[in-house]
Amino acid sequence: MRAMLLDAPGAPLRAADVDAPEPGPGQLLLRVRACGVCRTDLHLRDGELEPGHLPLILGHQIVATTEDGRRVGVPWLGWTDGECAYCRSGRENLCPQARFTGRDVDGGYAEYAVADERYCLPLPDGMSDLEVAPLLCGGLIGHRALRLAGDGERLGLYGFGAAAHIICQVAVHEGRRVFAFTRREDEAARALALSLGAEWAGDSMAPGPEPLDAAIIFAPVGALVPAALRATAPGGTVVCAGIHMSDIPSFPYRDLWQERVLRSVANLTRADAREFLAIAPKVPVRTTVQEFALEDAEEALSRLRAGRIEGAAVLRGPPP
Ligand SMILES: [Zn+2]
Ligand SMILES: [Zn+2]
Repeated sequence: MRAMLLDAPGAPLRAADVDAPEPGPGQLLLRVRACGVCRTDLHLRDGELEPGHLPLILGHQIVATTEDGRRVGVPWLGWTDGECAYCRSGRENLCPQARFTGRDVDGGYAEYAVADERYCLPLPDGMSDLEVAPLLCGGLIGHRALRLAGDGERLGLYGFGAAAHIICQVAVHEGRRVFAFTRREDEAARALALSLGAEWAGDSMAPGPEPLDAAIIFAPVGALVPAALRATAPGGTVVCAGIHMSDIPSFPYRDLWQERVLRSVANLTRADAREFLAIAPKVPVRTTVQEFALEDAEEALSRLRAGRIEGAAVLRGPPP
């Protein structure tokens, strides 16, 4: 099969012909229809996160068909042991033995993939393969971040890419007021945010027009943490939703004082996935997708690195 291989962190992905994977016990053989490109893929590509093995096939937002013709989604959470204290308390996202798709298990930047059937998700009808792919990470982890941000009405979203453009729609549907914080020059992201119901879009390093009840930081920029705390009202929560961020600069305690909460969100549980995939069609969430051929995965990652993707980048699978 055709696959894009990461040979070493820091090296460009390489197109190659490799053997299709063989499903092990409990695994499905999947024909990839589309695979979303996530910032986590870029962190693995750039050596900011450690790959589980090399060469590695990235990609953890896989829309695929099974051998018996069912459409399923494969998210980042690929396997857990089911028996540790985290797994037994509804927190399988923190399982120390967890295996992640596109890091520990080869992912969807390929024509075929295998996945543990218990972690595959049924997908809502009414969205194409390309449109539904970004729900599988940006949507699922974004949803977990939104829940952990609490019920506050005024929600700030820092970085308006794949996850934020989905979560903005959910938040507006819930009756919240959304404020989009982007880099000063990113006019396209601001226009997208306003078109999806955000009431304001502006510079991420300055406070918004009024204090926030909660903020979610999707951009991998540590300097946004103190900026978001300063933009947040007493009692508000700031959630860091990414897996990697540049270092957080030191900041005065008064920016955290008055019961502001700062927390991270890690991975997802299958319960998060079921919950979000039930909500998405009710909103209904519509994704803005930039489509790439499988062989152009490196180009998609380059554009993501440069902030030149509007909405979400998705690799399309081979024609049926
Ligand atoms: Zn566990
Ligand atoms: Zn992801």
